[in-house]
Amino acid sequence: MRDKVQSIIKNYVRNYESVGKVETRWKEPIVAFADARDPMFNMLKEVVAPSHALPRDFMADGKTVISYFLPFENYIPDSNIGGRKSSKTWAVAYVETNTLIASLNFHIKKEIEKLGYKAELIPMALSFTPENLKSDWSQRHVAYIAGLGKFGLNNMLITEKGCCGRVGTIITDLEIEPTKRNQGEYCLYKAGKNCTRCIESCINDALTEEKFYRDRCYEMCSENGERYKDLGSCEVCGKCLVGVPCSFVNPMKN
Ligand code: SF4
Ligand code: SF4
Repeated sequence: MRDKVQSIIKNYVRNYESVGKVETRWKEPIVAFADARDPMFNMLKEVVAPSHALPRDFMADGKTVISYFLPFENYIPDSNIGGRKSSKTWAVAYVETNTLIASLNFHIKKEIEKLGYKAELIPMALSFTPENLKSDWSQRHVAYIAGLGKFGLNNMLITEKGCCGRVGTIITDLEIEPTKRNQGEYCLYKAGKNCTRCIESCINDALTEEKFYRDRCYEMCSENGERYKDLGSCEVCGKCLVGVPCSFVNPMKN
């Protein structure tokens, strides 16, 4: 089943580029699986917010959370290196990937139902408001639990294909063996090595070694959201994840 679900996701993304009339290009997705009853989910109520949801809030008898990373082709992050404003290519990729995630999740649900199981969709940016600046379903934290990657100093999830891309999740009552979380850090700084490239790239003083200033980051993302409002909802920035050692790879393996 593990291979079957991975194929469903990889094939859909491969074909989406030709049928979806989209500009964005993605590399092959990475897929990981979390046990929906993993006690680590409870910790998100402390780490993210007391109101953070649990898998059982979406499906009482859910067994597996499927988490996937859709990595952007290199030209997209490369277009966003330098300057203050986000590149249009980066903004388009954000909007188009959100649409892809919604459509991919519908497809996964349909395919799982064909196998005789259930799947439930989880709203993107659940309960996110400009006041709280947090979602009650943090895709990145869930992806961490699923073993998809580790957090970097830039507050992003670093996967085996870096951090330039988007994460999606869906829950099912199909039992799939959980992915093992790797030991050790993926971020050079966190591993005690000499790297603060993401801090140096931040254009609104939102990242420091001590703290991530969520409000300053949101201010910058809103500025780009206003700039690219014709594209749809696209509060983006991403300067701290482009042109850095963890953009496309797990830098601890290079
Ligand atoms: S740029 Fe360096 S310090 Fe920042 S997240 Fe990536 S590896 Fe870690
Ligand atoms: S997204 Fe932009 S403002 Fe936010 S931390 Fe990264 S570089 Fe700074």
